[in-house]
Amino acid sequence: MPRAFITGITGQDGQHLAEFLHGKGYEVFGMVKGQNNPRMVQMRDEFPYVEPVPGDLADLPSLVKALEYTQPDEVYNLGAISFVALSFNQAELTANITGLGVLRMLEAIRMVGGAQNNSIRFYQASSSEMFGKVRETPQTERTPFHPRSPYGCAKVFGHDIVVNYRESYDMFACSGILFNHEGPRRGLEFVTRKVTNSVARIHLGLQQEIVLGNLDSKRDWGYAGDYVKAMWAMLQQDAPDDYVVATGTTYSIEDLVRLAFAEVGIEDWQNYVRQDPKFYRPAEVDLLIGDPTKAREKLGWEPEVQFPELVKMMVANDLALESKGR
Ligand code: NAP
Repeated sequence: MPRAFITGITGQDGQHLAEFLHGKGYEVFGMVKGQNNPRMVQMRDEFPYVEPVPGDLADLPSLVKALEYTQPDEVYNLGAISFVALSFNQAELTANITGLGVLRMLEAIRMVGGAQNNSIRFYQASSSEMFGKVRETPQTERTPFHPRSPYGCAKVFGHDIVVNYRESYDMFACSGILFNHEGPRRGLEFVTRKVTNSVARIHLGLQQEIVLGNLDSKRDWGYAGDYVKAMWAMLQQDAPDDYVVATGTTYSIEDLVRLAFAEVGIEDWQNYVRQDPKFYRPAEVDLLIGDPTKAREKLGWEPEVQFPELVKMMVANDLALESKGR
C-alpha cells in the first residue's frame, strides 16, 4: 500500500487529493496545524481514512517527526497562506509559510534519508500568481515570473528552491504551476465561492447584495477535483519536472457573476452587485491564462469540468447548504 503525506489537508485541494489517493489505495496521512484545529471536526467526519499528524510548516522539527512517523512514498506540499489579499496584510507570515515552508519540507525530506536514495517523491503547489504582470500570453513552463503580491513572491521562492534541490541533490521534486481551481470546498474568502454563496443567500432572501472588487479581472478557472489528478500524475513519471496545469480558457469576474445569478433565474444581476475599491488589489493581475500542452502530452491530463458547469455545481452546493442553515 503506497503511503502519501499531505500538508494543507484541511484545505480545498488537500480534501480532494485525500479522496483521490484513498480511491487509488493509498494510506493517507494529513498534517494538521494547531492544538485544536477547528477544521478537524469536519475532517474526521468526512475523511475517516485520513490519519492526522501534527506539524507546522514554520517548525522544521515537527516536519522531520512527521516524516519519520509516516515514512511516506510521496509528499504533497499544499499547505500555505494561500489568500492573495491576506498576503498583502501579513507579508512576513506569507513569506515564512508559503515560501520558507517549502525549504523546510525539502530539508526534512533530506534529513530522514529521502534525498540519498531518491525514495520520497515531492510535489510542490506552485501557482499562476507567479506570472503576475504577465510577460506573454498564454503562460507556459518557460514564461518568466513577475509576481504582483507577497503571495506570488513567496511562491516564486518555493518554486525556485524546488528546482534547486532537484538539481543539487537529485531529489524527485516536482512543481505544479496550477492556475485557479475552484469547487464546493473552496473557502468563502475566495471570489468564486463568495459569489456562489452570496447568490444562493440572495435567492433565499438571506442577503441583499454582493460587494466585489475589480469585475474585469480575468482568470483561467478549473475544477479542483480535476487538478489533483495532475498532481498525482507528476509523481508517477520516470523523471521529476514542472508542469503548467490550466484549462487554457479565461472568464472575467463579471462572467462568473452573470453565470451564477443565471443559475437562480436572475438576469438583472447589476441590481445586486456593488463595487468597492477596498476589494481592489494594491497591484493587480489582469489576465492569467495557461497553456497546458505539456501536461496534456506528458501526463495525459485534461480538465473534465468546464467553467459554466463548475459555477452550476458551486451554486447548487451553496443553495443546499444555505437552505438547511449550513
Ligand atoms: P487552502 O484551501 O487555503 O488551504 C491551505 C492549507 O494550508 C490549509 O489546510 C491550512 O491549514 C494550511 N496551512 C496554513 N498555514 C499552515 C502552516 N503554518 N503549516 C501547515 N499548514 C498550513 O488552499 P488550496 O486552495 O487547497 O490550495 C492548496 C495549495 O495550492 C496552496 O499552497 C495554494 O497556495 C496552492 N494553489 C492553489 C490554487 C487554487 O486555485 N486553489 C492555485 C494555485 C496554487 P489550516 O486549517 O491550519 O488553516
